[in-house]
Amino acid sequence: MASETPCLIFYGGVGGEVGGNQILLADPGTKTKFLLDFGCNLARRGLLYPFPMTPKDRGEMVNVGLAPSPEVLISKPFPGPVSGAFISHPHADHYLCICLLPEGTPVMASPGCLTMMEVRRSTRRKGPEDEVGHLEFRPLEAGKPLELADGFSIRPYYVDHSAFGSMGVLVEASGKLIAYTGDIRFHGPLKDYSLDFERILEKKGPDVLILEGTNAIGARMVGEDEVERDMASIFADAKGLVMVDTNLGDIWRTSSIVSAAKEARKDVLIPLRLLAILEALKEKACRIRPDLIRMPVPDPREPNVLIYVRPKKRLEKWEKDLLSLCEEELGSDKLIEPDEVAKRPHELVMISEHPASDMRDVGPPKRTVLVHARSEPFNETGLVEYETLKAWLRTFGIPMLHAHSSGHASLIRLAEMVERVGPEKAIVVHTPEPELAKRYLEGFCREVITPGPGEKIRL
Ligand SMILES: [Zn+2]
Ligand SMILES: [Zn+2]
Repeated sequence: MASETPCLIFYGGVGGEVGGNQILLADPGTKTKFLLDFGCNLARRGLLYPFPMTPKDRGEMVNVGLAPSPEVLISKPFPGPVSGAFISHPHADHYLCICLLPEGTPVMASPGCLTMMEVRRSTRRKGPEDEVGHLEFRPLEAGKPLELADGFSIRPYYVDHSAFGSMGVLVEASGKLIAYTGDIRFHGPLKDYSLDFERILEKKGPDVLILEGTNAIGARMVGEDEVERDMASIFADAKGLVMVDTNLGDIWRTSSIVSAAKEARKDVLIPLRLLAILEALKEKACRIRPDLIRMPVPDPREPNVLIYVRPKKRLEKWEKDLLSLCEEELGSDKLIEPDEVAKRPHELVMISEHPASDMRDVGPPKRTVLVHARSEPFNETGLVEYETLKAWLRTFGIPMLHAHSSGHASLIRLAEMVERVGPEKAIVVHTPEPELAKRYLEGFCREVITPGPGEKIRL
């Protein structure tokens, strides 16, 4: 006979893993099982499947330990379906394993997050992770409670993070209040959202606060306006092509790049995937909440925004489709191919998701520089990719500069949150330094837990 108190089972995002959060909140009292994120352990995935390898099928993903199987989720810790999976934001380490959720599981996220997940699926080569037809996607409304059972409800709130549509959540399960930050920061363009979330938690006084602890050591945390200023001055000083290595899902960063380029009187080349993201956001997410991003989504119709087209023989189907749409709607003048880049490199800033590939396609002209505008690598796969990038920079003679601000709060700021909110238990996930985080946070909360993989905690 199961105990009547709710419990948490940490299937992923623990034991020193940054991301791959898979946290099951199971409440036998209301017969409810609710997942807080169902992401992928990207370090392990990268080790098992270096590009171009991908998982063979969903069964293999379970067998290699990327997530528990649907059967495990249905049978443990008590028999019954999963009532919902809350996806905090559209980073793969928080949602990529949803394909393994049982048939009919409702996947709940902000409209922006749902849109970004959809764009990812439609702009990449299909794999088992894209098999999500058996799930039911439900948009969440910030601040609005949603009852999943009598005695079990959730209330989502927007937070500031480097991914579009990021949310944290407060769950009530048989009288216990459990708060989950997802990934959070207090220094980005949407910092007011994080501050509001913190104030609400302070008022509600949750019993448990599950928080992230990414930035225990190092990282730069400044406002996005400062990043934009850094970039504008680099762009103005650069005497040749500027390539900017960035994460395309960070809309504020791409917006900063476009604005900085405008200030430096340069044209920006955007890759087709970014165009797909911008168009999808305009179409869907922004129509629902135009004030949500508090910054205009870069408009591909602006005169200084051009679309970079990779050499034709390498285009995938979605790229070809988008391209013909572009030609019709925006005109062929908007499209720039590699040989045209070589004609006026000093007038161009190129946003790149895969700078090593783009460099080889363009054959970078002399005086090219690279701006690294994404986080430092935090796992072995990232380190290998970073070394590959540096090897190509050396090959071509391209110096690298940094212009970045972290998507995560510092551990010091998170400790302030713990102290303000005052939970009985603080549980730290998504951290490369569980021991350090635990010892430091113990100065702010009586009970700090850093669970191990598969660990179950009774509330
Ligand atoms: Zn994360
Ligand atoms: Zn994230």
